[in-house]
Amino acid sequence: MRVAVISDVHGNVQALEAVLAAIDELRPDEIWSLGDVVGYGADPVRCMQIVDERAVVSLAGNHDLVVSGTINIDMFAHDARDAAEWTRTVLSPEQIQALATRMPGGGREGVQLFHGSIRDPVWEYVVDPRTAELCLERQRRPLCLIGHSHVQLVWGEEDGRVVGGTVAAGATLAYGEGRYIVNPGSVGQPRDGDPRAGYALLDIEQGTATWLRAEYDVRGAQEAIRDAGLPLRLAARLAEGR
Ligand code: ZN
Repeated sequence: MRVAVISDVHGNVQALEAVLAAIDELRPDEIWSLGDVVGYGADPVRCMQIVDERAVVSLAGNHDLVVSGTINIDMFAHDARDAAEWTRTVLSPEQIQALATRMPGGGREGVQLFHGSIRDPVWEYVVDPRTAELCLERQRRPLCLIGHSHVQLVWGEEDGRVVGGTVAAGATLAYGEGRYIVNPGSVGQPRDGDPRAGYALLDIEQGTATWLRAEYDVRGAQEAIRDAGLPLRLAARLAEGR
């Protein structure tokens, strides 16, 4: 069983289509989405349609829950808030309803899945060893997948200490019987200095996770953000991967 894992698409249909084209060449058995399909980007309608069609797991992220009204929009400020308000005006009532039914955590094939973390599935960023340690203490399965930080990361326990951090594209982890947290990075708004769209491929039988990147039409995504009247900073950051 091989699984392509995507997260944080954020309404970037140019990035999503490029990642799905690359995924189709890998012919995985399933696609799992770790949430935040909408918010920030200019094509939330199309991104939701595509993810709903392709992914067998679709978690809710904090942006999805704010757009659906499950979480109060006052939790957001600045660009995130402006984008969430705009996203509400373009999604259909059925799509907003669908977002409201999603959960920020779950599991499949023995893998634990969260948008944020095992401790706080909606909001927690697992980007430092101490937070990772607290999460690993609660983890009961070898592998836990998370999104939310938009950075390709791994955290694990080796010889009683927490190791990990950012991961180079193309790297493979053999998670075996250990305990690891893997973040596939963000499809639609990477924040690790590499503008290419991030995703990951799991091989459940082999017990491996591989981090991958796909080039996409960044200009097209930026133009769509400008045309939609969304904050220009949301376009600029795509070119920098920030
Ligand atoms: Zn996100």
